[in-house]
Amino acid sequence: MATIQVKRRDGLSLAEKLYIPEVMRGMVVTTRQLVKNVFGHQDIATRQYPEVKKAYPERFRGRHRLTWRDDGSVRCVACMLCSTACPANCIHIVAGDRGDEKIEKYPVSFEIDLLVCVYCGMCVEACPCDAIRMDTGTHPMPSFSRDKQRIRKVQLLEEGLPSTARQGGLGT
Ligand code: SF4
Ligand code: SF4
Repeated sequence: MATIQVKRRDGLSLAEKLYIPEVMRGMVVTTRQLVKNVFGHQDIATRQYPEVKKAYPERFRGRHRLTWRDDGSVRCVACMLCSTACPANCIHIVAGDRGDEKIEKYPVSFEIDLLVCVYCGMCVEACPCDAIRMDTGTHPMPSFSRDKQRIRKVQLLEEGLPSTARQGGLGT
C-alpha cells in the first residue's frame, strides 16, 4: 500500500509577503534591460527580416525538384524506391510505360505532400538515378489550402535542372 508523504511548504518571507520589494526588484530588471536595448542595440542578436534574410546552410534540405534528361524529359524511372524509403509515406507515383526498352517506365504523375513530409532526405538518398533532389535552397511557401501543399510533377520539374549523373537511369 502506498504511503503518503506530507511535505511542508516553506512560508514566504516578510519582504515577499509585502510584494513591494519584489515588484521593485522586477522593475529594476526590466528597466536595466530596457536601457540596454535602447542604448546598446548593436549587441542584440536581431535579424531585420524580411529585409535581411538568413542564408541557408549549404546542406539545407529545401523543396524537392525532379531532374531532367538532356532531352528535357523527366529523369525519374518510376522505380518507387523513393516512395518505399519515405518514412512519412508522402510520395505518390503513378508509373507509365515509356515505350523504350532501355528505360521502361516514367512517372505519369509524381506527387509529394509537403505537409506530411519531414524533410529527412531519404528519398534523395534512395534514388538510383539522381532524379530527385532537395537542393533548391527554398523552403515550402505557406498557403491557405492543403491542396497547394501537394507539389506535382509539373512544379517539381519547373524547379528541376538537368542531371549530369551517368549511372542509374541511363544517362543520355
Ligand atoms: S524528405 Fe523524407 S519525408 Fe519528405 S518526401 Fe523525402 S523521404 Fe519522404
Ligand atoms: S527513386 Fe528516383 S527514379 Fe525511382 S521513383 Fe523515386 S525519383 Fe523516380
